[in-house]
Amino acid sequence: MLIVMERDCSAEQLQRVLEKIQRMGFKAHPIPGEVRTAIGITGNRAPIDPAEFETLPGVEEAIPVTKPYKLVSREVKPEDSIVKVGPVTIGGSAFVVIAGPCAVESEKQTIEAAVAVKEAGAHLLRGGAFKPRTSPYSFQGLGLEGLKILAKARRETGLPVVTEAVDDESVAMVEELADMIQIGARNMQNFQLLKRAGRSSRPVLLKRGMSATLDELLMSAEYILSEGNYSVVLCERGVRTFANHARNTLDLSVIPAVKKRSHLPIFVDPSHGTGIREKVGPLARAALAVGADGVIVEVHPDPDAALSDGPQSLLPAMFKDLMRELGQMAPLVGRAMER
Ligand code: PEP
Ligand code: MN
Repeated sequence: MLIVMERDCSAEQLQRVLEKIQRMGFKAHPIPGEVRTAIGITGNRAPIDPAEFETLPGVEEAIPVTKPYKLVSREVKPEDSIVKVGPVTIGGSAFVVIAGPCAVESEKQTIEAAVAVKEAGAHLLRGGAFKPRTSPYSFQGLGLEGLKILAKARRETGLPVVTEAVDDESVAMVEELADMIQIGARNMQNFQLLKRAGRSSRPVLLKRGMSATLDELLMSAEYILSEGNYSVVLCERGVRTFANHARNTLDLSVIPAVKKRSHLPIFVDPSHGTGIREKVGPLARAALAVGADGVIVEVHPDPDAALSDGPQSLLPAMFKDLMRELGQMAPLVGRAMER
């Protein structure tokens, strides 16, 4: 159920509605909008009678929400959401670039990558300290030590840090030492983890599972919002298909579909989406053209020596060219590069 308040409703009228929702045993999610406030209700197992609310002063309308996701839907919030990561604004007209190595391998490698992406104009630094690898024998990441290296890279470059968490314990460490929590494709439906991220005060980058539908992605985001964390950025990173010319099939058609259904920002990851260095630039440009709010790109100072995802990592010089191209393209599609 979505309660739409009248434009000029008073603070007391709003409060009375919130109290009534609580008395009924449900959770209220006030969503201030440009012209009026809406209140999402979650926690009800059966439909609520709109008359329960429509008779209260200050209430314009009570709308049953038919979709399995509510708080992430445009029905509930028509305006695009803005997510702040440190000083960086995601979801406005600016296009945001997250870049850095797949994994934190050493202090030298991470600082080198961070300095290179900063100089090229990236806005946020990526790098995994907890790596969910397909094989248990592959490099699993440096864990806490990796997070400390990322924190050092942030101090040296000023770039806020995005890094993956894989369980409750790592969320606690990531929220303390980094700026944004990444939830990876393999964990998109780890509902415990989603709920834990929903109780964090850090923004979340939620990647689409490799065989997840759009509805499934949105319901995973709903888990995070329903716990009270509204700062969620979605990310398309390619799905599994029969096509074998690339690691995954980057589903760029999901971008306008997300924009229609949800107010949440959406990013594209052309690195995991293709798995091949030469394809990263073209698909990053396509992501900008199709309306994505940003891209997340893997960059490594020495990809041949990388402990994970070397073949899809850009060399710093390639990333610099890509940043220049994106900057030239952005105004043509009604955007500006984030400063
Ligand atoms: C990553 O960003 O390094 C990563 C593991 O991505 P994904 O979860 O999309 O595979
Ligand atoms: Mn990777």
